[in-house]
Amino acid sequence: MRIVCASANAHKVAEIARLLPVDVVLLPRPDEVGDVDETAPTLEGNAVIKAVEIANHAGTWAIADDTGLEVDSLGGAPGVHSARFAGPSADDAANRALLLARLEGHDDRRARFRTVVALVHPSGEIHLLHGECRGSITIAERGANGFGYDSVFVPDDGDGRTFAEMDPIEKDSISHRARALAQLPVLVARISGRAE
Ligand code: IMP
Repeated sequence: MRIVCASANAHKVAEIARLLPVDVVLLPRPDEVGDVDETAPTLEGNAVIKAVEIANHAGTWAIADDTGLEVDSLGGAPGVHSARFAGPSADDAANRALLLARLEGHDDRRARFRTVVALVHPSGEIHLLHGECRGSITIAERGANGFGYDSVFVPDDGDGRTFAEMDPIEKDSISHRARALAQLPVLVARISGRAE
């Protein structure tokens, strides 16, 4: 089965590629498709928007993931706005800095990553997979691996290190994205008779 990846984020693509079943070939996002506006109010909606755009363009299955970091004491923020937490053109460093500033003095630092994966066919067939990873937000950044909020997030299922202090394989063993994609082999087996 061939699936076109709707993400251009090199870190994400590498994670998705590592986590896919061996009988799935991940094709790169077509260069000619511009940025897709993530206008939906939910992770589910945005994952579908991204996958539909690429599936329709490529004429075959497309996979997209939308991820949000939900912080308990911020009422679930930044959530669906995680990529633009510090403003419309904010980068990862600015988003992390704002998060740490917002949590200054907070004892309750519990949070979770939530990932929604959408697998979409141009015929309109849509499948959604969900994954979550609970943890807490650090006082300061730690670690140089990974991307996004990895250096400020300590997963509950780890040993106290942030995702950015783990090697990629360790992150894959407990991450939100891995937990969503772990359900893909069963889904692919179910739909593979109609894979192209
Ligand atoms: P999106 O899913 O690409 O829209 O990502 C939303 C935001 O969450 C961006 O700021 C990403 O950098 C961040 N993000 C997505 N996945 C992860 C992850 O696995 N670890 C840390 N940050 C992530």
